[in-house]
Amino acid sequence: MQTKTHFSNTPFWHDDVDLTVQTTMLEQLSDNVDVLIVGSGFTGLSAALTLARAGKSVAIIEAARIASGASSRNGGLLGPSFHKLGIQGLVDKFGQQTADDLLKESLKGYDWLLDFIETEQIDCDLNRCGRFRGALRPAHFKSMVLQAQSLADKLDYPVDIIEKADQHTEVGSSKYHGGVVYTKDASLHPAKLVKGLIKLCQQAGVTLVEQARVGKIRQNSAGFKVQIARREINAAAVLIATNGYTGDVSAQLKKRILPIRSSMIATEPLSTELVQSISPKLRTHGGTDRLVFYYRPSPDGKRFLFGGRAMSYQDKPQEYYQYLQQNMCALFPQLQQSKISHAWSGLVAYSFDHIPHLGQNNGMYYAMGYCGSGVARANYLGHKIALKMLGQGGETCFDQFEFPDQAFYSGNPWFMPALLRWHSFADRWGV
Ligand SMILES: Cc1cc2nc3c(=O)[nH]c(=O)nc-3n(C[C@H](O)[C@H](O)[C@H](O)COP(=O)(O)OP(=O)(O)OC[C@H]3O[C@@H](n4cnc5c(N)ncnc54)[C@H](O)[C@@H]3O)c2cc1C
Repeated sequence: MQTKTHFSNTPFWHDDVDLTVQTTMLEQLSDNVDVLIVGSGFTGLSAALTLARAGKSVAIIEAARIASGASSRNGGLLGPSFHKLGIQGLVDKFGQQTADDLLKESLKGYDWLLDFIETEQIDCDLNRCGRFRGALRPAHFKSMVLQAQSLADKLDYPVDIIEKADQHTEVGSSKYHGGVVYTKDASLHPAKLVKGLIKLCQQAGVTLVEQARVGKIRQNSAGFKVQIARREINAAAVLIATNGYTGDVSAQLKKRILPIRSSMIATEPLSTELVQSISPKLRTHGGTDRLVFYYRPSPDGKRFLFGGRAMSYQDKPQEYYQYLQQNMCALFPQLQQSKISHAWSGLVAYSFDHIPHLGQNNGMYYAMGYCGSGVARANYLGHKIALKMLGQGGETCFDQFEFPDQAFYSGNPWFMPALLRWHSFADRWGV
């Protein structure tokens, strides 16, 4: 096992893509804009593109560097992200019709992004590779089979069932008890997608301002007065696109979001044989753990990327590096000698009902709460919220749900480390 810890703390994706972009200095930003967007990830960029193409003057204001939040840090695993409860759980909670509608909307969002990438010709290593999901216990396999049959029947979403005896054709680990392959799932290079979106936004005339934190936002008869450092900008409309980074910019949204740190490691280049001994078909992967691990080969098939929840809210690379490496080697002992080149993290946002939310709060628009699966959702719902802002529809199945808060929670997730450790314990002992 590697003992020295010489790894880069920047996302592996940033080695390939320079995210330095032409921005506008805050001092040069116009006093008046039609739409001011807080946050420059997929949500903000996707919304900005739709709004600017419809003729609106749009400014994206980013507290850090452009697109340096989760959108350029994620695993690039792409799928419809059906609800955590599973199909039967959704039916039990919401009834058959709503459950069906939720599943269909998730698939619609996924198809929308695939179509968008192709139409706009964004080169982001999109690969319709399929995803293998392994069952950590025999009982998990049984419920996966039932779920797979429902998906195939209801959504025409093809799922292959893989018995334990055959799973070596999908994954090089003995920890699973069979699994399923979601054959339509895909993977991409998130930083390349972000870069492509930025280019389209700039071509459409969107103004990008970075290293400028949005402070107080006050509503008035003409719209909003938005405080950014010493500037005050008038905006006819505001979109909050801050997801896991939602802070004091909106106390109402902050208390509806649980920010959780997600982290990843990347190995140094491996032999083709070693990568294929883990993922023979170079798919994306995950399991049925409560504290989910997700993994995939790099787009060139030379490295292995492995991700999971970080136990601390703060960015503690040493801590999650060890945690991920241990869990990766427990699943794949053949990686014991492989060195780790990168370890990085970012914040995702859970909602209390595990449903993404979009709409209006105190007059401001928002879209957030993607529950760790935001590549398709953030792009799709960014577009949808922009259509709502334009008065051009933008209806989704998610509109019918109130954005719930939780008694005694005001946005400080102090209890999360303990909760995550409990889930980790439960995974280990099958509780
Ligand atoms: C390590 C990791 C792995 C992941 N893997 C996957 C995956 O494989 N597949 C998948 O589907 N999803 C994955 N996700 C989730 C996905 O990346 C996110 O759901 C998605 O990128 C959210 O996009 P966003 O634009 O809403 O937010 P973000 O991209 O996080 O952008 C929000 C931005 O708002 C800015 N901001 C906050 N407050 C202010 C303020 N007051 N003023 C100005 N700016 C502000 C922040 O600085 C940040 O840049 C992963 C996330 C992480 C962190």
